[in-house]
Amino acid sequence: MTASIIDGKKLAETVRAEVREGVAAFVKEHGRAPGLEVVLVGEDPASQVYTRNKEKAAKEVGIRGVLHTLPASTTEAELLALLDRLNRDDAVDGILVQLPLPKQIKEQRVLDAVSPDKDVDGFHPMNAGLLASGRPALVPCTPRGCMRMLTSTGVKLEGARAVVVGRSNIVGKPMAQLLLAQSATVTIAHSRTKDLPALCREADVLVAAVGRAEMIKGDWVKPGAVVIDVGINRVETPNAEKKSKLVGDVAFGEAKERAAFITPVPGGVGPMTIACLLENTLVAARRRVAPR
Ligand code: NAP
Repeated sequence: MTASIIDGKKLAETVRAEVREGVAAFVKEHGRAPGLEVVLVGEDPASQVYTRNKEKAAKEVGIRGVLHTLPASTTEAELLALLDRLNRDDAVDGILVQLPLPKQIKEQRVLDAVSPDKDVDGFHPMNAGLLASGRPALVPCTPRGCMRMLTSTGVKLEGARAVVVGRSNIVGKPMAQLLLAQSATVTIAHSRTKDLPALCREADVLVAAVGRAEMIKGDWVKPGAVVIDVGINRVETPNAEKKSKLVGDVAFGEAKERAAFITPVPGGVGPMTIACLLENTLVAARRRVAPR
């Protein structure tokens, strides 16, 4: 069997088109565009690219995107003061603080300071708690995108055996919660899990969020499974012209011979994450004008 590829780029375009339509309707009804404020502290080159892309993607769908670039020497108090101002600003619907932060700033303190109503990353403990209670409000973008990809396959999640490899607050844990909410039987694996290959072989739905290049081999995949590869790993190539390339946590070439559906890297989960950030901004804007 050769797997069908779940095309994240194409699906992300669909999501963006939906958001664009939703934004236009929001503007018509409320006389203003939803606002997303992206905060970058320091000069990490990857973070500079990510934040610029987020601001640009927001503008492309009609969201008022603003990028705040603060120097690497910014103190925690200065960053908290900016967040306080954005929390109070009625025209701001979504706030995103790009991670990682410089050493002098405590990450958790900053994430906790973003108003839960504007927390479009879904990292605030209030949003994590609501998700765990089965009352999702703002859900982390990457797992949200993964669920949309799973839905696009038409595969039934109810009663399916799902294994999520990775237990981070950003990906693994919320992913497991979302699968559970769809009545899958979920196991979360991590670095201390015993016999991971055997566990993965039981999975009808296998989600890899580890950060280790091609760790999950083809023969760890149950024939007919759906494989969602969240990992983004840069590896050296023997090719002299192109020194490095991106690979996932799954050995794609082998796994696609056994899976029914699989996401590629690049072009899989990555593009969906940013599309779901835009979706979350619209969700936040709608919730703020019509609080429950
Ligand atoms: P993370 O916080 O580093 O978490 C990695 C998880 O993998 C941890 O729970 C860790 O277990 C587990 N792990 C590490 N080695 C393992 C092993 N040998 N066997 C089993 N489990 C192992 O990473 P993350 O933030 O969740 O990100 C995971 C990957 O997804 C990274 O490659 C990241 O770049 C990528 N990512 C992609 C997107 C996207 O948009 N596509 C978004 C976010 C992240 P312990 O808890 O026991 O240490």
